[in-house]
Amino acid sequence: MTSRWPAPPLPLLPDRGLPVRLYDTATGFTVPTAPDRVARMYVCGITPYDATHLGHATTYIAFDLLNRAWRDGGHDVRYVQNVTDVDDPLLERAAATGRDWRELAGEQTDLFADDMVALAVLPPDSYVGAVDAIPLVVEATQRLLAAGHAYPLPGHERPEGGTEPDGDIYFSVHADPRFGSISGLDEASMIEVFAERGGDPERPGKKHPLDCLLWRVARPGEPSWDGGTLGHGRPGWHIECTAIALHHLGMTFDVQGGGSDLVFPHHEMGAAEGHLLAGSWPYARAYAHVGMVGLDGHKMSKSRGNLVLVSQLRRDGAEPAAIRLAILSHHYRSDWEWTPFALDRANLRLATWRAALAAGDSGPADEHLLLALRERLADDLDAPGAVKAVDRWAASQLAAPPSVPQDDRRHPVGAERLAGLAIRALLGVEV
Ligand code: ZN
Repeated sequence: MTSRWPAPPLPLLPDRGLPVRLYDTATGFTVPTAPDRVARMYVCGITPYDATHLGHATTYIAFDLLNRAWRDGGHDVRYVQNVTDVDDPLLERAAATGRDWRELAGEQTDLFADDMVALAVLPPDSYVGAVDAIPLVVEATQRLLAAGHAYPLPGHERPEGGTEPDGDIYFSVHADPRFGSISGLDEASMIEVFAERGGDPERPGKKHPLDCLLWRVARPGEPSWDGGTLGHGRPGWHIECTAIALHHLGMTFDVQGGGSDLVFPHHEMGAAEGHLLAGSWPYARAYAHVGMVGLDGHKMSKSRGNLVLVSQLRRDGAEPAAIRLAILSHHYRSDWEWTPFALDRANLRLATWRAALAAGDSGPADEHLLLALRERLADDLDAPGAVKAVDRWAASQLAAPPSVPQDDRRHPVGAERLAGLAIRALLGVEV
């Protein structure tokens, strides 16, 4: 298992938070989450070939809010995240820059962890690399093959020249009668999106254009591992997450999370594989997706190169709490544009909140703020609503005359204002 990053302090709050409702992509409804004491969440991790950009930060901060709200509500949270530390984009980047792919993956995984620590994101309980998960993927693929839900592809000539070897294993997506139920896309749209997002609808020999790769047999010059009866090779992407989620969380976990660009094909394919491996459904009770962050009119993406990196903002002197607050002023499901003003606004807001905290002591206003934050987060993680509640509380604190003489306003050692504890515990903003 990849070593996870250290956890930030998480203040304990009085009483209990509220049950969280979340918008479920599959049903289109806002649904209750986590009916049991143990709340289980899987959030798809990064492919470590380029540092954390604001799109990543927005995704992991959104699910961090859920993690915090669940804990505040008394749940034991089981949070699993993967790192796709061997995959085509990583190998291509390594080859293009003359680097060793392992070195590149290790360096970028460390940088991601540093960014998560700076942004006060609670670490997953299990943080699993694709390379570590290979035995799980091999076993899952063998079971799908044995059940007739997967098949090996014969070798063939590539249209662009060269040959593909025998034995890549593909998953028959339509073996799951519920295939399509997460994204709700029609087949033509699925094929189009599949091609755009790393799929290979036109690969000769497949039984259906949407069938996806489970195991890629070894090619010269590519890393490979012993796959037992599958031969040497490396895992496909979707099965990596499914095998890790089923092993570490078990079937029907509470929330499958990720960016909205993972709805199809990644979460659709992963759920279909999960349904067939477990022989039951649903794979997850809710599928939650985070909107895309744009820059200059385009979605921030590695392929376009229009990235704002968290590490670069930090090097330029941005306070991580301000980066986090700038992100939290947008609802997690909306698509939004990053502008340099976002940080200015967050800095101003942070200064106001800090001044308000210094202006008085815990009282009824702090208790009301705690209630408001819990209510807003329970309502589909309404972070902008929570931020506005803090703004209103801060304005009231700064407008009111100090309740005690100036000299006595310092807090006793170790006693922090309830408002400060609530902001830190629920929003993860260091005030
Ligand atoms: Zn995934």
